[in-house]
Amino acid sequence: KTYDGKTFAVRNVSININDREFVVLVGPSGCGKSTTLRMIAGLEEISEGELLIDGRMVNDIQPKDRDIAMVFQNYALYPHMTVYENMAFGLKMRKFTRSVIDERVTEAAKILELEPYLNRKPKALSGGQRQRVALGRAIVRKPKVFLFDEPLSNLDAKMRVQTRTEISKLHKKLNSTMIYVTHDQTEAMTMGDRIVVMKDGVVNQIDAPLNLYQNPKNKFVAGFIGSPSMNFINGRITIENDKIFFISNEGKLKLCINGKRGEELKAYLNKNISAGIRPEDIREALKEEDITDKNKITVKIDVVEPLGNEIFLYFQLEGNQFIARIPTGEIPEYGSSIAFLFDATHMHFFDNEKQSTIG
Ligand code: ADP
Repeated sequence: KTYDGKTFAVRNVSININDREFVVLVGPSGCGKSTTLRMIAGLEEISEGELLIDGRMVNDIQPKDRDIAMVFQNYALYPHMTVYENMAFGLKMRKFTRSVIDERVTEAAKILELEPYLNRKPKALSGGQRQRVALGRAIVRKPKVFLFDEPLSNLDAKMRVQTRTEISKLHKKLNSTMIYVTHDQTEAMTMGDRIVVMKDGVVNQIDAPLNLYQNPKNKFVAGFIGSPSMNFINGRITIENDKIFFISNEGKLKLCINGKRGEELKAYLNKNISAGIRPEDIREALKEEDITDKNKITVKIDVVEPLGNEIFLYFQLEGNQFIARIPTGEIPEYGSSIAFLFDATHMHFFDNEKQSTIG
C-alpha cells in the first residue's frame, strides 16, 4: 500500500488467515496495522496485490458487499437511536424483515447481556456498555469476518481487561473469523490464536503467542513482546580454554555459553552481537552461591517497584536500563547492591547487523 505512489505504508504483507481464527495485528504506532485492516475492510484501496475472502478476490468489491463487520475504537453509535435501533440499523438498511431483525437483535443482546438496556440511548450507557452495543451491531450481521480496530483503547484499564475477555469469549461462542488490531502486546498475547507483529509497514513475524515469546525471530519482536521488555546488552563472543563466552562491551557481564547454543555463536567470534534476557530470567543470587561464578553480577538498584505479587528492580548495566523481576519477599532498598544471576540457557542472541536472532 502506498498513499502517494512512492512511500510504502505497508509492504509485501502476505498472510493466510484460517477460518475461525483469531488473528491479532500488533506493532507500534504507524507500523501499518490499521492500513492493513482497512484494506481488508475495503475502506482503503489496495495499491498492489490481492485480497481474497473465502476464495473470492474482493479488491474491487464494495465494503458493504464483502460480508465483513468492523468495530471501531470510537464505537460510532448513533446518539439519537436506542441500543435496539443502533443494533438493528445495519439490518434495516439491508432490507431484512422485521422478524429477522428482532430475532437477531434479541439474540445479540442476550449474548452481550444488553437486554436491560435495549431502550436506552448511548449517552445513558457506560463506555464498556457502548462498546458492547458496537459489538452487537457487528454480531447481528453474522459476517464472515469481524474486524476490530483498537476497540478497547477508549476504556479505562479495568474495563479494558473485562471487555478483552468478553471478546475472547465471544469468539469462542460465535466461532467466527476475527482480525484484531492493537498496539498493546498484552492484548495481542492474551487474545490471539496467532499474532502478526509489524514494524515500519513490514511483517516481522507471524506466530502463536508463546512461540513469539520464546522464539522471537529478531531483536524487534524480542523487545516488543513481553512486559516488562527484554533487556539488551551489546558484546562479543570469545573462546577461552575451549569454552565459549559472551562478554559485554565493558566486560561487566561474562557468560559461559554451553552446548548447541555455544556452537551456534562460534560463527560470531569477535563480532559485535547483542544479548537479550527477559526480566524473569534474572534472579537474585543466594548468599551461599559461588561468589566467583561468572554469571553473577552485582549492581546498584535505581528503582524498586513492589507490585504485591512480584517486585521489579531497575538497574543500569553499561548504560543499558535493565529490569529484573523477582518474587515478592523482602523489598530491597533504593541504592542497595544486589547480586544477580543471569540464566544463560534462557538468553537470546542477535546479529547486530541483520537484527536477526542467532540460532
Ligand atoms: P498504525 O495503524 O500501525 O498506527 P497506520 O496504518 O495508520 O499505522 O499507518 C501506516 C503508515 O501509513 C504511517 O506511516 C502513516 O503515516 C501512513 N498513513 C496512514 N494513513 C495515511 C494517509 N491517509 N495518507 C498518507 N499516509 C498515511
